[in-house]
Amino acid sequence: MAGAVVTRFAPSPTGPLHLGHAYAAMVAHDMARAAGGRFLLRIEDIDRQRAKPEWEAQIYDDLRWLGLDWDGPVMRQSERLPAYRAALADLWARGLLFPCSCSRSDIERAASAPQEGAPHGPDGIIYPGTCRGVPARGPLPEAALRLRMFRAARDCSFVETGPRHKGTQRISREHLVHAVGDVVLARREMGTSYHLSVVLDDAAQGITHVTRGEDLSEATQIHVVLQALLELPAPTYCHHSLIRDPDGRRLAKRDDARAIALYRAEGATPADIRRMVGLTSDRG
Ligand code: GLU
Repeated sequence: MAGAVVTRFAPSPTGPLHLGHAYAAMVAHDMARAAGGRFLLRIEDIDRQRAKPEWEAQIYDDLRWLGLDWDGPVMRQSERLPAYRAALADLWARGLLFPCSCSRSDIERAASAPQEGAPHGPDGIIYPGTCRGVPARGPLPEAALRLRMFRAARDCSFVETGPRHKGTQRISREHLVHAVGDVVLARREMGTSYHLSVVLDDAAQGITHVTRGEDLSEATQIHVVLQALLELPAPTYCHHSLIRDPDGRRLAKRDDARAIALYRAEGATPADIRRMVGLTSDRG
């Protein structure tokens, strides 16, 4: 149906779902259901070292227990490598990528200013440009590949709603070049990257509203550049606040954060989880 809301929850099966994940899933689910739209699930398992089938099984189980029923088939990133490689081959052929052989410490050393350390952007240290001059000829190499941001960036804009922003954000070319830089689009061991995969998958799943934590709001700049380059529709971005413990520390990514499975084992109900993350248990 044209104009219908389509949201998604996109967990990585690298550990148990925590309260922060439950919150993200509920926000996406509730938005779709309230609009009579669709709520989709995507398993972000491109990190083959860390993704485990048992965590994936636990995700399905926890979501079902929470009453978060998803629509249609689950998309799994590990099955989408050909689509990622095709997009990379396109960008490569257009001279928008270069291979990079820098290690983390090479980058840290080259990027560090004497007193201040290395400047950081939404994808870690802003790349100092060491390999930018490497010629990009021939077929797509099996290498780490970075985006030539200077060529890729034109003024982009996106619609963001959420706790801190409302309305259209404009990002200038200058900002993209200096404050974001030549981000990695393919890691050598993965053949893709979070940024490339998420953009291609959101488009392939027809996502109209990306709801996710505000920790990813800076990464959205990279995503809108990729959407412009690959001529993909740009969804609306809704960045929600993160669930924190009583000391103000983020819960979702902390190793000792409480897993949904633990609350379940202790007898909590899905309504209790909703209350814990600040969402009412009344879905009406
Ligand atoms: N897989 C990412 C995570 O678990 C979510 C990515 C996104 O929502 O764009 O943090």
